[in-house]
Amino acid sequence: MSFIDLRSDTVTLPTPEMREAMYKAEVGDDVYGEDPTVNRLEEMAAEIMGKEAALFVTSGTQGNQIAVMTHTQPGDEIILEERSHIITYEVGGIGRLSGVQAKTIYGKYGFMSPEDIEASIREENIHYPRTSLICIENTHNRAGGTVMPLNLLKKTKEVAEKYGIPVHMDGARIFNAATYLGVDVKEIAKYADSIMFCLSKGLCAPVGSMLVGTKKFIDKARKFRKMLGGGLRQAGFLAACGIIALEKMTKRLKEDHENARILAEGLAKIPAIALDLNTVQTNIVICDISGLKMNGNEFSKMLLKNGIKVNGSNNSYVRFVTHYGISKEDILYTLEVIEKLTTI
Ligand SMILES: *Cc1c(COP(=O)(O)O)cnc(C)c1O
Repeated sequence: MSFIDLRSDTVTLPTPEMREAMYKAEVGDDVYGEDPTVNRLEEMAAEIMGKEAALFVTSGTQGNQIAVMTHTQPGDEIILEERSHIITYEVGGIGRLSGVQAKTIYGKYGFMSPEDIEASIREENIHYPRTSLICIENTHNRAGGTVMPLNLLKKTKEVAEKYGIPVHMDGARIFNAATYLGVDVKEIAKYADSIMFCLSKGLCAPVGSMLVGTKKFIDKARKFRKMLGGGLRQAGFLAACGIIALEKMTKRLKEDHENARILAEGLAKIPAIALDLNTVQTNIVICDISGLKMNGNEFSKMLLKNGIKVNGSNNSYVRFVTHYGISKEDILYTLEVIEKLTTI
């Protein structure tokens, strides 16, 4: 049985072109800097983001953690949004690996206000830790794939600059943000000192993320990557897919956004399901099924019997993610199933 898998865009499989490219990839030992395909991917990534240098990392989590390690010193404090990936889903890494503490702020739609950020920056005082990094997430996963408005991004960067604090962007889905805004990704990237973005989500590469920033930052980050066991050898087989991800797969994300919109508008019409359509900007749909008298796990089990996979948990929120391989027909079928199951 084949499933309509809406759990995440990480379930995307490499495209036939990627498999071909893997087979043919020219490779070398990347720890010696001798893998031509990794080198090409890193040059491409830096160029696309308008930064000096880039580093191929094993995962988005590794990229974020290396960024925090590189920007901070143990004992520092960093500012993050309350529901951000770094604080929620990275196994407490910032405490363990960087030895920093977190100052979390709630942000409407996932974006902290520049005023709240400014108020959280520590002044010089013998009692206080040093605030050494501001992290933002764009698109914001747990807020529903929301896109940070450019003027807000600009103001955030201005506050950071006023205090000489770098900004790291968890841009796992930064190309979804650029697609939504209809701008070149550089227009987003220019407001962050470092950016992590994923090749292995909606862009279909099997493995890997990129970290970009200044040459000095990336040189230091490369050493931390080695420390964390991320110094890979013939990684060009993976980088070959990353090159196709950047060249081709960034261009088709609009289709995923359209499908998410169709799904969201359909779900919003179901009386027992609550959904804020304002949050549905990219490829993520989060709805609240409190009205159904079941939790997310029970809901997902019910859908599974009908060939649909979604991520539910023991609360009332259910997340759907559209991606390459999910068609409009799949979405219409999903809606049909949910409508039927929720009205009997
Ligand atoms: C998926 C994700 C990551 C981490 O990526 P992995 O490759 O799964 O480690 C980081 N940030 C956000 C916002 C994500 O959605």
